[in-house]
Amino acid sequence: GTQAKAIADTLGIVHISSGDLLRDNQARGTDLGITARSYMQQGLLVPDGLIIEMIEDRIQDEDASQGYVLDGFPRTVEQAESLGEALGKRGEYIDRVASIAVGEAELVMRLGGRWICRKCQTPYHEINLPPARNGFCDDCGGDLYQREDDTSDAVSKRIKVFKDQTAPLIDYYIQEGNLVEINGEDTIEGVRSALLNAIA
Ligand code: AMP
Repeated sequence: GTQAKAIADTLGIVHISSGDLLRDNQARGTDLGITARSYMQQGLLVPDGLIIEMIEDRIQDEDASQGYVLDGFPRTVEQAESLGEALGKRGEYIDRVASIAVGEAELVMRLGGRWICRKCQTPYHEINLPPARNGFCDDCGGDLYQREDDTSDAVSKRIKVFKDQTAPLIDYYIQEGNLVEINGEDTIEGVRSALLNAIA
């Protein structure tokens, strides 16, 4: 999320996060939000059909016409195939896919200390990236909260789900020829410049 937001700002294109869209649906109490919540709380993936429809709608919005950074999508081979087909029909394609590798111990530390702005979704970290004023967003002043799926049980489940359902996408996009692998254990700045170099 941190990197996708920074890259989108630098490139002047929109940041589209499937998790943010789902949390926004939850906050608005839509049918999608209500259905998604039980999966998200447990750290499970929301069914492909729902996610694919949500993202395919979002990328057709006017603000996405110059391109976008997708964050958290696709997460299964089925989602990747649907995205490829939908883009192909419009003569569009994916420029690059970034796989940001972080070891499990570091991941658990990062998620456990994460705080997110309720208003603009900017992520902070208690140790790595604290806000200037405790509990409030530097960008918009909104209050910060901890996600209910950043608890240790849900995080362990999310890591398992990643290995089973999302990791196969690494080979999928190597075969498609557009995967870049980035060391995510560097500093925020270091990861950002590696990403920018890789997609330039
Ligand atoms: P994130 O904010 O990307 O960590 O996503 C939070 C949760 O939303 C995930 O653990 C899933 O339950 C759900 N979710 C987000 N993106 C997807 C996706 N592409 N496919 C299925 N579920 C998703």
